[in-house]
Amino acid sequence: MQREKVIIIGSGPAGLTAALYAARADLDPLVITGEEIGGQVSITNEVENYPGFPDGLTGPELVDLFKRQAERFGARYAIDLVTEVDFTRGSPFYLKTHNEEYEADAVIVTAGASPRRLQVPGEEEFIGRGVSFCATCDGFFFRDKEIVVVGGGDSALEEGLFLTKFAKRVRIIHRRDELRAGTVLQNRAFNNDKISFVWDSVVEEVVGNGLVQGVRVRNVKTGEEEILDTDGVFIYIGHYPNTKLFEGQLEMDDHNYVITDDLMRTSVEGVFAAGEIQDAVWRQVATSVGQGCAAAIQCNRWLEEHEDELKARDKETA
Ligand code: NAP
Repeated sequence: MQREKVIIIGSGPAGLTAALYAARADLDPLVITGEEIGGQVSITNEVENYPGFPDGLTGPELVDLFKRQAERFGARYAIDLVTEVDFTRGSPFYLKTHNEEYEADAVIVTAGASPRRLQVPGEEEFIGRGVSFCATCDGFFFRDKEIVVVGGGDSALEEGLFLTKFAKRVRIIHRRDELRAGTVLQNRAFNNDKISFVWDSVVEEVVGNGLVQGVRVRNVKTGEEEILDTDGVFIYIGHYPNTKLFEGQLEMDDHNYVITDDLMRTSVEGVFAAGEIQDAVWRQVATSVGQGCAAAIQCNRWLEEHEDELKARDKETA
């Protein structure tokens, strides 16, 4: 059993910022990164709204900067996945990963969110064969091809715009006749010759033969269905929080987000949470960074306040 003072679960902007602040507070944090470092922003092509970078930068560039900055002050990274936690007995908290078992005095949960699925026939079957959730990763394979993007938010438009670099045509299928995305992206999309919109429509099925060949869409106003021929289907219909691991451990709201108070405390004393796992509202890199910072500051305060208690406990169990 490996003993740690602070374990941070997840390595998106919230986790890496918590790591920076925890490291600078001399807490020697260990970040258990998940399958890869960076979370969702690492598969984002262009980050234009993170302050301090007026010319924008790519998601992987930003992640690398966050990572190196925390590392400089002593943050450590384990590229591993947490498979089990037990917070029920209080500190020290038990965590199990693919490779290791840990005990930690305090935990900061920043496990983020994952892309929501359409849950229609063909979607799972054609992942990697035309269905994708990552334009940055897969856009290259669609040079001069037909692409549909599903969704009407910032992600759908931003990634749809990125895909026009490769594709012959990008059709954005949205279930309403009004976009959720911000005006800047809307204007860019409306002014891009390669982009067109399929309004008031939902995808009912992804069809193909080995590879994607089309999507069956239904107009929600008229009920009419048609097959749109396409080579690629990029799905951007929002996210769900990665809270399965914490069921029965941390209190969650009706949408399965971890409940935190304004000091980033969860329902378990000594366990803090930050970023998209507890934020259904803002979900920006800038807000996740702020929440990660706050969680680490509070975690440090909690450890200081309970220092004597934790020492006495360790003596007793030694
Ligand atoms: P989002 O804002 O939640 O938008 C999801 C879109 O998918 C909505 O248009 C929604 O339709 C549609 N949708 C949801 N479920 C659907 C379903 N089952 N079938 C068909 N369509 C469905 O998600 P997001 O675009 O991923 O953005 C997430 C957050 O990140 C937002 O806060 C966003 O502002 C932020 N973000 C910002 C930027 C940027 O500022 N550059 C870039 C990317 C993301 P309705 O509109 O009808 O609900």
